[in-house]
Amino acid sequence: MEDEQLHALMRAVLRADRILIVTGAGLSADSGLPTYRGLGGLYNGLTAEGLPIETALSGPMLRRDPALCWKYLAELGRACLGAEPNAAHRAIAELQRRKPGCWVLTQNIDGFHRRAGSPPERLIEIHGTLEPLFCQSCGQVDAGLDVHVQRPLPPRCAQCGGVLRPPVVLFEEMLPETALETLYGELREGFELGISIGTTASFPYIAEPLLLIQRAGGLIAEINPGTTALSERVDIKMKGRALDIMSQLLGHSLSE
Ligand SMILES: [Zn+2]
Repeated sequence: MEDEQLHALMRAVLRADRILIVTGAGLSADSGLPTYRGLGGLYNGLTAEGLPIETALSGPMLRRDPALCWKYLAELGRACLGAEPNAAHRAIAELQRRKPGCWVLTQNIDGFHRRAGSPPERLIEIHGTLEPLFCQSCGQVDAGLDVHVQRPLPPRCAQCGGVLRPPVVLFEEMLPETALETLYGELREGFELGISIGTTASFPYIAEPLLLIQRAGGLIAEINPGTTALSERVDIKMKGRALDIMSQLLGHSLSE
């Protein structure tokens, strides 16, 4: 049964020129990255300050109490700096090399797709990334996340003393407009295949693009060890870790 699904996915990948790969936290969990809910020191989902993590990592908190918001941003930063893209990130980058019409839409802020070799011009980071830091007051770019997470928080601009921040979408902030425009522009061009990897697809802007592809006559597939909002709707369901399945997929496609 699993083999049948894998072969169906292989055939779909071989046939398609335009592919949209949608990725989420499950992909980077295989690199040992915690999701924001899995950050250290959370007790019953609350921070040491007694706040939901969604409040601590919000736009309003960065303005009101930058040191508190940065405590958790730095924790995410250290986790990302201490981990590496895995075989699934590399397999996705390889698929993009072979298929010039293959795009990645990711919710992950770890920058692992870039580091694994995904071309930036076909990568939509809908929640932004943790680097490079920039000054909220004067706009000066300061790339040194690795340096700043070791120093007193919040990190400050060398030029004007303003608080630095990453180009990431915090809770209660808007999605980046250019990323949304690129996504919807590409969706209008159409995709023959959509593959959801390691995401629960609980945000409408993650599920909707896949459902649009399906409504326009394309196939959609899901790679996830669990059941998600999309599981009932997909044409191909692979229950398992992206790490195992993507390597198998690329390995088989190579030999054909
Ligand atoms: Zn500044």
